[in-house]
Amino acid sequence: MSPKNIYYERCAQTIISNLQKRRMEGYYYPTAKEAVEKALSFLTPGCSACSGGSMTLQDTGMMDALRAREDITFIDRESGKNPEEMLEIQRRGFSCDYFFMSTNAITMDGELVNTDGTGNRVAALIYGPKNVIILAGMNKVVSDVHSGIKRIQDIASSPNCIRLNRKTPCSVTGKCGNCLGDDSICSQTVITRRSGTPGRIKVILVGEELGY
Ligand code: SF4
Repeated sequence: MSPKNIYYERCAQTIISNLQKRRMEGYYYPTAKEAVEKALSFLTPGCSACSGGSMTLQDTGMMDALRAREDITFIDRESGKNPEEMLEIQRRGFSCDYFFMSTNAITMDGELVNTDGTGNRVAALIYGPKNVIILAGMNKVVSDVHSGIKRIQDIASSPNCIRLNRKTPCSVTGKCGNCLGDDSICSQTVITRRSGTPGRIKVILVGEELGY
């Protein structure tokens, strides 16, 4: 195992132990393939699942794996033909059994840091779906909440805005301009310091760089 992989594994064990104190479950897998298999193992026949928008879920093959599961109902936000349909699908997702997402950042102490433009993802993280399953590459790990917010502003938002064709300061300069216009993807920042329902939030850390 390379020094980097040993480092990832040791960091992950620290985070998993801190997640437990916060009533969240934590897991670590060296590869995305193993992480996706673990995520799929939570799903029981007949359950429903939904997801937030996430490059991590796309890149790991998690989205394709959910679409391929014939024994569950996958409420696929991307099946909406227009913004109204997509909104309706997202609303249905709030009552699903398993909500899938990544996290913009996770601290060594086990706090999750997420910023949303519309809020559907952080809303489902907070309340609604019976379980939340988070896949996160070790590139999302930060030292503390402040560093997590900085990570969102300095690292994650710019490529996300470019991907979504948003005309924001960060998409042009690579630096947050604290924008408030129509194209901003930063409306709500949620710090998850604890799960109200024990075990509802399950975090699967992956020893790879995934998403933004
Ligand atoms: S506030 Fe605006 S400029 Fe700053 S990261 Fe968010 S979208 Fe980019």
